Amino acid sequence: MIIRLLGTGAAEGIPAFYSGSRVSEYARKTGGREMRTRSGALVDGHLKIDLPPDTLAQMHRDGLDARNWSAVLFTHSHDDHFALSELQYGLYPFNEMEHLAFPIYGNAEVCRRIQAMYPGWPIDLIETKSFEPFNHGEYTITPIAANHKADEDGQNHIIAAEGKTLLYATDTGVWHERTWEFLKDFKLDLLVIECTEGFRGTGYFGHLDLIGCLHVRDRLRGQGTLSESSKVVTTHHSHNGDATYAELEEALSREGIIAGFDGLEISL
Ligand SMILES: [Zn+2]
Ligand SMILES: [Zn+2]
Repeated sequence: MIIRLLGTGAAEGIPAFYSGSRVSEYARKTGGREMRTRSGALVDGHLKIDLPPDTLAQMHRDGLDARNWSAVLFTHSHDDHFALSELQYGLYPFNEMEHLAFPIYGNAEVCRRIQAMYPGWPIDLIETKSFEPFNHGEYTITPIAANHKADEDGQNHIIAAEGKTLLYATDTGVWHERTWEFLKDFKLDLLVIECTEGFRGTGYFGHLDLIGCLHVRDRLRGQGTLSESSKVVTTHHSHNGDATYAELEEALSREGIIAGFDGLEISL
């Protein structure tokens, strides 16, 4: 299994929109891995996770073609992951497709909003619920409850195929106990975990800073969900965390964690 992090920024990206923050200014000067578009990923070139507003630019940047997608899997309905208006461009008259070529998996709120914006449109919509696994092609996908959005079943996803398992956990604070318990039955080869608040936590329940991120990693190791050989990679970084990529890379590499960046590809 190969996962490509197409975007690793939080909602406002880095450099952040209309911001002169230290991290934004450093990114403008330095470029490269300091630049972050909104978070999304692609598994094995065809299983698309989230549809941030930067998706088209990410695909152009990396020489990818959306016609290869077999599905889009949504984590939750926040705007930085769910650019609802982009979906129309997958259909006639914007292209030649009479039916959206890929199914969409999403929670009840995601499905409700798609149906409200596109009533009766030829879109295959499949509602997903936390802790209820489903199959897509050769993948078994198990949504687990994130701790991120009080009014919605925000999901992180365990994706398993060919004896390999990854957990994509963007947009979650520290999970509730039910999620921790549920994870005891899994052994992860890769954890992609948010580190939104970097060096400067805010106290908001729905995101992790660096300390929270390490806490999650350590507890997963303690209960056997992660082993010493499991890979851990970060994503969903905000400039408000006051951590440049270079600083994060230094701090995280000491912990054996890979600091994620746009375009990073990890093979399992
Ligand atoms: Zn987000
Ligand atoms: Zn969110």
